[in-house]
Amino acid sequence: KEITDAPILIIGSGYGGAVSALRLCEAGKKVVMLEMGLNWEKSGIPFSNMLKPGKSAAWLKKKTIAPFMNIFSLTPFTGTLDRMDFEHINIWVGRGVGGGSLVNGGMAVTPKESYFREVFPDLDADKFYSTYFPLVHKELKVNVIGEQFLKDCPYYKFTRVGEAEAHKAGFKTIRVPNVYDFQYMEKEYKNEVPRSAFNTEVIYGNNHGKNSLDKTYLKKALETGNLEILDLHCVENIKLNEDKTYTLNVQQTDTSGAVVADKVFNCKKLILAAGTMGTLRLLLKSNAVNHFPIHEQIGKSWGNNGNFMTGRNWVKPLSGGTGAKQSTIPVGGIDNWEDKEHPFFTEIAPLPMGMDVATALYLLINRVDKKGEVSYNVNSQKLNLNWDQSNTAKMKENADYFIKKMNRANGGTRSHFLFNNGFGADVCYHPLGGCVLGKATNEYGKLKDHNNLYVLDGSLIPGTIGVNPFVTITAIAEYCIENLIRQNEFA
Ligand code: FAD
Repeated sequence: KEITDAPILIIGSGYGGAVSALRLCEAGKKVVMLEMGLNWEKSGIPFSNMLKPGKSAAWLKKKTIAPFMNIFSLTPFTGTLDRMDFEHINIWVGRGVGGGSLVNGGMAVTPKESYFREVFPDLDADKFYSTYFPLVHKELKVNVIGEQFLKDCPYYKFTRVGEAEAHKAGFKTIRVPNVYDFQYMEKEYKNEVPRSAFNTEVIYGNNHGKNSLDKTYLKKALETGNLEILDLHCVENIKLNEDKTYTLNVQQTDTSGAVVADKVFNCKKLILAAGTMGTLRLLLKSNAVNHFPIHEQIGKSWGNNGNFMTGRNWVKPLSGGTGAKQSTIPVGGIDNWEDKEHPFFTEIAPLPMGMDVATALYLLINRVDKKGEVSYNVNSQKLNLNWDQSNTAKMKENADYFIKKMNRANGGTRSHFLFNNGFGADVCYHPLGGCVLGKATNEYGKLKDHNNLYVLDGSLIPGTIGVNPFVTITAIAEYCIENLIRQNEFA
C-alpha cells in the first residue's frame, strides 16, 4: 500500500474544509485535503442541466435522484449529487471539490440574531454579526439581485407571483442574497455570455455564474501554494495511534466508482469536514471497527434544519402561472418566523421544468423542537437515524397552515403532483448536528477525548439554525479555525 505522511490532513472540501484550508495555508501550513468526489474544474467535464441529466447528475446511480420527476436513466458516474435514504427521510448532499457548494441553490442567508443567540447561547453573537458574517459575505461573494431586473425578467415570474400571493395572504416577504453573480445573470439574460441559471443548471452543478467554493475559498487556498487537493480519495476509516497521531485507510477510485488503489495516510493533525453525515459516519464507523474513541455526545442533537417541502397547484394557472422559463436561483422568501403559533421561513423555490406546470414549490425551514440521533449499524455497515413522523409533526402542521392560508387567498390546491399527499416531510437538504460545538467538542471544534482531532462542518450546529445553513457553517468555521490557530494547535 502506498503510505503518505502529512502533517495536517483535512477530510472534505465543502464549507468547513475550504475555510480551514485557506486559513491554515495563509498561516504558512502545508495542508493535504482528501475529497471523495471529482475535481470537476480539473476534469474539464461540463456540468449537466436538469432537463438533460448527464455525468454530473448523480453519485454512482442508474437513475436521477432529484426530489421529483426522476424519469432519466444514467450510466453510473461520480456525479455531484448524492442521496442517503433512511426509513423516514432522504438526505441530499454534494460530492466533488467544493462539496455542497457545487449543487446548492446559493442562497446566502444570515440567521436571525435572536435565533442564533438561542441556538448558540455560549457564542459571542455581537462578534459574529460584526465580524464573522460580514467576512463570510465578502469571501463567498454574496450579492443581491437588482430590483428592476427582477421586476422585468420573465425568468423571475415565479418569484413575482410568489411574492404577490404571499402578500395577498398576509405574509411578509424578504429578498434573499445569493452567491450567484447577478451581474453575470443580467448578461446571460441578454445572451452576451453562456447561460447557466437560465439554462436549468443548479443541482447538478453550474457551468457559469455561481461562486462555488472552487472559485472562492479553495482558489485562494491553492494560490498560496500550500494546499494539495486529492480528489476521488474516499476515507474509509480512521485509527488513533499510541503517539496520538492518526492513520487513515483511503480508497482511490476512478469515475465509475471502481477502486484503483488502497492507500494509507498518516497525520499529526486531522480536521474532519466531511459534512454532517460524512463526519458522523467516519467517527461512528471508526469507533465500531477500530475502537476509535468517541465522546458520548457524538451522534446526538441531529436535525433536518426543519426542512419540509410542499407545493401548490392552480386549477387554472393564475394569470399565466409561474412561467415556463424559470431561473434556477431563488431570490425570494416568506418570513413567518415571528409568528408564535406557526414560526417558519420558506424559500419561494423555482421549478424549472421547461414548461408551465402551474405549480409553486416551497422549501420550509422550521424550528426543530424534537431532535434525532445518529448511530452506526455494524451489520449493515450503514448509519442509523432515529427520526420519524413525530420529529416532523409540527413542521407538517406549519406547512398545512401555510398552504391553506395561501390557497384561501389565491385559489389552488395542495400539490399532489409533486409529493404523494402534497407534503415532502422526507426531503432534507440541510442535515445538521451530531457533533455539537461545545458539547462533543471544545468551544472551538476540537473533539473531546482527543488531542489532535477537529470537526469543522455542519455537524457543529445542533440540528437547526432557522435559515439555509451555509453562511452559518462558514462563519463558525472561520471563528473556530481563527482561534485554533491562535492557540497554536497547528504549531
Ligand atoms: P459539505 O459541503 O457537504 O462538504 C463535505 C465534503 O466532504 C463533500 O464534498 C463530500 O464529498 C466529502 N466527503 C464526505 N465523506 C468523505 C470521505 N469519507 N472521504 C473523503 N471525502 C468525503 N444551503 C444554503 O445555505 N443555501 C442553499 O441555497 C442551499 N441549497 C441546497 C440545495 C441542495 C440541493 C443541497 C443538497 C444542499 C443545499 N444547501 C444549501 C445546504 C448546504 O449545501 C450544506 O449545508 C453545506 O454544503 C454543508 O457544508 P459542510 O461544510 O458541512 O459539508
